[in-house]
Formats: sequence, structure tokens, C-alpha cells
Amino acid sequence: FQVPTAINEPVKSYAPGTPEREEVLATYRKMYNTKVDVPLYINGQEIRTGDTDTMSPPHDHKHVLGTYHKAEKKHVQKAIDTALEARKKWADLAWEQRAAVFLRAAELIAGPYRAKINAATMLAQSKNIFQAEIDAACEFIDFLRFNVEFMTQIYEDQPDSTSDAWNRLEYRPLEGFVYAITPFNFTAISGNLPASAALMGNTVVWKPSDSQIYSAKVIVDIFKEAGVPDGVINVVYGDPVMITDTILASPDFAGIHFTGSTHVFKDIWAKIGTNIHHYKTYPRIVGETGGKDFIVAHPSANAKQVATGISRGAFEFQGQKCSAASRAYIPKSLWADVEKYVKEDIKSFKMGSPEDMSNFITAVIHEGSFDKLAKYIDQAKTDKDAEIIAGGNYDKSKGYFIEPTVIVAKDPKYTTMCTELFGPVITIFVYEDNKWSETLELVDQTSEYALTGAIFSTDRYAAAEATKALQNSAGNFYINDKPTGAVVGQQPFGGARASGTNDKAGSYLNLLRWVSPRTIKETF
Ligand code: GLU
Repeated sequence: FQVPTAINEPVKSYAPGTPEREEVLATYRKMYNTKVDVPLYINGQEIRTGDTDTMSPPHDHKHVLGTYHKAEKKHVQKAIDTALEARKKWADLAWEQRAAVFLRAAELIAGPYRAKINAATMLAQSKNIFQAEIDAACEFIDFLRFNVEFMTQIYEDQPDSTSDAWNRLEYRPLEGFVYAITPFNFTAISGNLPASAALMGNTVVWKPSDSQIYSAKVIVDIFKEAGVPDGVINVVYGDPVMITDTILASPDFAGIHFTGSTHVFKDIWAKIGTNIHHYKTYPRIVGETGGKDFIVAHPSANAKQVATGISRGAFEFQGQKCSAASRAYIPKSLWADVEKYVKEDIKSFKMGSPEDMSNFITAVIHEGSFDKLAKYIDQAKTDKDAEIIAGGNYDKSKGYFIEPTVIVAKDPKYTTMCTELFGPVITIFVYEDNKWSETLELVDQTSEYALTGAIFSTDRYAAAEATKALQNSAGNFYINDKPTGAVVGQQPFGGARASGTNDKAGSYLNLLRWVSPRTIKETF
């Protein structure tokens, strides 16, 4: 099973004067000024339903980028029928053929589509170029390349045989079709959820988030150009409840690959339970959902390192990562220094449109998110249990801008210590230095989630104690680093409890969920 060696795609710098900077800026401007009309994509055909909605950049919400077409029930049904028809050939295609298609997609992103997918991500999701490059280019390329390696890792796992009994495991795709629901916050995840299931021989109906359709269209074009056959990945937009209900009503629904909010995932799980008697197989349910990710500093920690962990972990990507740090526990002895450094960092962050590359912070995704964040910030301004020590301003006149905000809570169970906000807001609790063990217990018990977390300590015994005490509190656990930025092939990503099924994106563990192996014994 020799396949091209996967290496992590090097991140380009986009420093002033570099050709990549000029190219992405020119692409951004051109795309900003050209209206697009995004159709559904079913069986390789573009379908314009005429029922449309508009798309706008979150940092410039009065500007219209174009329109997208919304599916009716009959289109969703057609996507299902098409996926089932395409499965007949795709499932039996040699794995090398499937792998080649996705390796070619990776090369298209690395080369001719790099500027376009980055500019689309800057426009649709308001990422600055450095964030877009890490997500839409590098992480997406990494997923596609490493998945091929993970796939062969799985295929290589074969049972023992004897001279008269040859035992084989054949890794069949699931019987039916896979449903992918993808989030706005990562273009890479959006592309990987349908692609990874398809690589394993499945055919897919894919529903991207309404807030990411503009960049999803670029992914659709890349898959087509890479040679993904018609009907293998079908794309529908529109009413999420109607689309999901139509899909879950199909007896051939074989699995869901989901990234999004906890409550939507739980609702879907319940609906699958209600429908269970009419499915042909037990559907695979794979989901990565919410988080309330923590940073805990031990008194032995380096204050500057802790502050950098907070500033980068909480505010990069506008805090719109499932993994973003949103609560921190700092010992009293370190607090003055940590506070000073975090305030300095925030002061240095410029906020505005991603078109100006000196802006570090851009807008949050939409008005709903903006209003929710503003509400919690306002509440913290008046609550006696809370104090805002940095940021706290917001403005939605042009874009949905929320200043990076630090709330200090007097009560470790204060609302924003427990509730997922999904934006550039972190809440900090300052604990007494002699309460380290109690604080670890508090960290574990404050949240229903268990996605990511970080501890900072130069004391090895304290680090070991935290690693043990927090063993169920985070699927990705960082020691002396921020809790974000998992790299494909290096830190398999996913959490447990209310954060998901912990099927570890960026590893073979995720791909295993998309096969239904057959054992073959042949005697001579
Ligand atoms: N993999 C990303 C990270 O480690 C987060 C993905 C997400 O937000 O869902 O930061």
C-alpha cells in the first residue's frame, strides 16, 4: 500500500511584497466586485430552483456577494436517489482510483485554487488572510493528503491466515448514503466531512452552513475539476429542518458526518432514534459539537506564556473555533503579570476588514452571533459578579465587530464561565494559589463539554496531577500551549461529553467510521 508520503502543507507568509499577497488581494477584490449565483449541485448538474437568498461578507453586511438557490423536498430526494445510483459504481472502484481524485483536489488547492479558496473564506467567513491560509488552504490540503495515508493504514489491517484458510478483511463502504452537515467556521472541515466519507467509497449528500455557501461553492468546483464523478458528492442548500427530515426519512440513510452545535446534533440523534426501525442498517453517527475550552495556569507557570495562550487561544479566528479558550483559571500570584500582558496583546490587535492585512480581528459570522455576544457583554457590565477588564465594545453598523473582551468573574460558576458563546470573549477566574487541586476539580465540573483544554506549569508533579484530574475534561489536552490549532497528522482532533462522539478528525479513527468491513474466509 505505497502511497505518496503525506506532508503538512507549508504555510505561506503573505508578507508585504510577496507574490501570494498580491495575488490573494487581487482575487479578493475581483470576487468582491463580481456577483455570483450559486446553484444546487446534484448528479454533477447545477440546479437553479429560483427560490434564492443573498450572501454578504460579515465585515461588510450591506454588500451583496451574490445569491444561492434553496432546495425543495424534491431536490433533496433527487440528491438521495442520485447518491444511491452513483454508489453502485463508486463503491466498487479500486481504492487507488478514489485516492487519486482527492490527491488531485489537494494539488488544485495547493496551486491554482489557493488564492480563490482563501479569498472566498475571507469574504464569506471574514477570516484574515493568515487564518484563511491555515484553514482553507493548508488544513484542507492536509486532510485530503493524510486521509489517503489513513485509508491505507486501515486496509493494511488484515487477520492471520493459515495454509488452508485464507482470511481477509474487505473494507466495504456503508450500505446506503452518508449525510454531511458542515459548519461555517472551517472551510477545511466543510470540505473534509463529505470528502473523507467519499474517499472510503461512500456517496454523499452534503449540506453546508448557510453562512459558508460562498466558499463551499469553490470546494464544489475543485471536487468537480479533480474528477469526483457525478453523483458522488451532491450539494443542497436551504431549510435545515426540511433537508434533514427528508434525509432521515430515507431507509438508505447510513450515517451522518456532522460538525456544528450540540443542540442540533442532539435533535438529529433523537430523530434517528425515532426512525430506527425503518433503516436498513444502524446509521453511523459522527459529530463534533460545542466546547467550553479551558486554560488553567499553575503558580509555577510562566506568566508571559500563559498570557500568549489566552490572547491567541481566545481571540484568533474571532474565537469562532470549537477549540477556542473561553474560560481561564489563573493563580493570584500570576494574575497581575498575566493581566498586564493580555491587555498589551489586545491593544496591539487591530480590528477591521480582512482586506486590510494589518487587521488581526475581523467580524463575527452574523447578526445572531453578534447580538448574543453583545447581550452577554452587556450583562457582564452590570453584574456585580463580573468585571470587564479589556474590550467590551461592539458595533454592527458596517460589519459584526466585537472587540476582544476579557471578563473577570468573581464566581467561578458565573454564566460566561459555563456557557459557550462562540466569539472573542474569555472569562477568567482568579484562584487562591493554595487551591490548585480544588481548581482542577472545578475545571472538570464546570462544563458539560470536553473538547479542548490547556494547562500551563513548569512543575512536573503539578502537570501530572492536572493530566490525571482532567482526563475526561478534554479530548485534546495541551501542556504549556494554547488549546487551539490541532494539525492534521499531528494532533487528532475531537472531544467527548457534549462535545461530540470523539472520532478524531485527522486520524484513521475517523475514517474507520465510514466502512462496514466484510470478513472473507476462503479454504483450499
Ligand atoms: N481543529 C481546530 C483547532 O484545533 C478547531 C476545529 C473547530 O473549530 O471545529 O483549533
